[in-house]
Amino acid sequence: MDYRGQNIARVDVLVIGAGPAGSVASALLRQQGLQVLVIEREQFPRFSIGESLLPQSMEYLEQAGMLEVVNAAGFQVKDGAAFARGAQYTAFDFRDKFSDGWSTTYQVPRARFDHILALEAQRQGAELRFRQEAIAVDLDGARPCVTVKDPNGEKYVVAAGFILDASGFGRVLPRLLRLEKPSRFPVRGAIFTHVEDHITAADFDRNKIRVTVHADHDDVWYWLIPFSDGRSSLGVVAERDFLAGYEGTAMDRLRTLIDEQPALRALLSQARWDTPARQIVGYASDVQSLWGKGYALLGNAGEFLDPIFSSGVTIAFKSAALAAAVVPRYLRGEAVDWEGDFATPLKRGVDTFRAFVESWYRGGFQRIIFHPRQPQEIRRMISAILAGYAWDEANPYVRDTGRRLAALEELCYQE
Ligand code: FAD
Repeated sequence: MDYRGQNIARVDVLVIGAGPAGSVASALLRQQGLQVLVIEREQFPRFSIGESLLPQSMEYLEQAGMLEVVNAAGFQVKDGAAFARGAQYTAFDFRDKFSDGWSTTYQVPRARFDHILALEAQRQGAELRFRQEAIAVDLDGARPCVTVKDPNGEKYVVAAGFILDASGFGRVLPRLLRLEKPSRFPVRGAIFTHVEDHITAADFDRNKIRVTVHADHDDVWYWLIPFSDGRSSLGVVAERDFLAGYEGTAMDRLRTLIDEQPALRALLSQARWDTPARQIVGYASDVQSLWGKGYALLGNAGEFLDPIFSSGVTIAFKSAALAAAVVPRYLRGEAVDWEGDFATPLKRGVDTFRAFVESWYRGGFQRIIFHPRQPQEIRRMISAILAGYAWDEANPYVRDTGRRLAALEELCYQE
């Protein structure tokens, strides 16, 4: 394309999107002395879903120099994950896990969390521009160029040394470059809200996400994520057609679905429902490639599996850390292997989570975790993966995920 006469900004790295992936990547690139421009479509703080972090993610916040601001924010500490089905209940404590590393993390309202990370990336020297939307890309020239629309509708072009697409569900480059490919998972949706929870049950553990399985449908589940201010995030996940079978507003449907679960209904009996519910359908996504000439896809702009194991932000951070290690070498003109140094190592952990997600939806994982007899060492290996250590090859459930899970499921079915 001929950009003569147009307003062109030149940067080392253009980051599209200031979510977790974009902010962590920006900070890591700044640490290596690169000039970074972040364009973000929204004005922060803005709502986002994905509030239960995994301890593994703390490692990347630490690398990005963001731990201090996150620790200072007063978020709800998270030390595990609890699962409930009818009268059954089991809780994993991440302090008891196979892999080394962080054992606790936070449950975060994302509007505030994402804003804190973005401002920290800015403080570290990234240029952050809100309300700027990436609308076109051109990879034909010497430098990849992105056309950006500002809040007045004016357009300008950014010529970057490299583009990191961290646009999440916006999926900017996958859409513009036709990289999208359908996810192998069925189309599921979620309905969710925030409530003033007023939970008084003495045995309720605010330090854990609570996942409740629908009494009659193994593949329908609810999340309850307590925050530090007496509020909680609450949501239900099911196949699209199942959700469509319920009538009324998103709020009506969410409340009806919660009323179907006596334990959850009792926990939330005093809750104040003060925020309209939202619905999102068809979030699972995949791409043909996670990188190409002059660009790489981070976080949800690449692949998104499923919310069941709260892996999204951890994967977003991991992708940012891997890419930030390769970009400077690429910009110095060194030969880099994007597949070997970025895509393959990223997919390793994503594939671990994928096997767990598949096991969850065929009911096997539930059979494992609710089984009356569980060897402690196996629980510790599973706990490590639930804590996000899906890349730890020392863990047999990472090295050999699919086969190990299938064998364990089989054992549980026999007993
Ligand atoms: P995002 O957080 O989506 O950020 C992308 C940013 O890019 C946004 O701010 C957006 O405004 C901006 N953008 C988009 N288009 C453009 C454009 N054209 N130009 C400029 N900017 C643009 N993950 C967890 O870790 N824990 C959970 O508990 C969890 N629960 C979930 C529940 C549900 C129902 C769903 C669907 C997902 C859940 N996730 C969870 C996943 C989590 O939401 C994502 O994985 C995570 O937000 C990905 O981060 P990201 O930085 O890749 O993208």
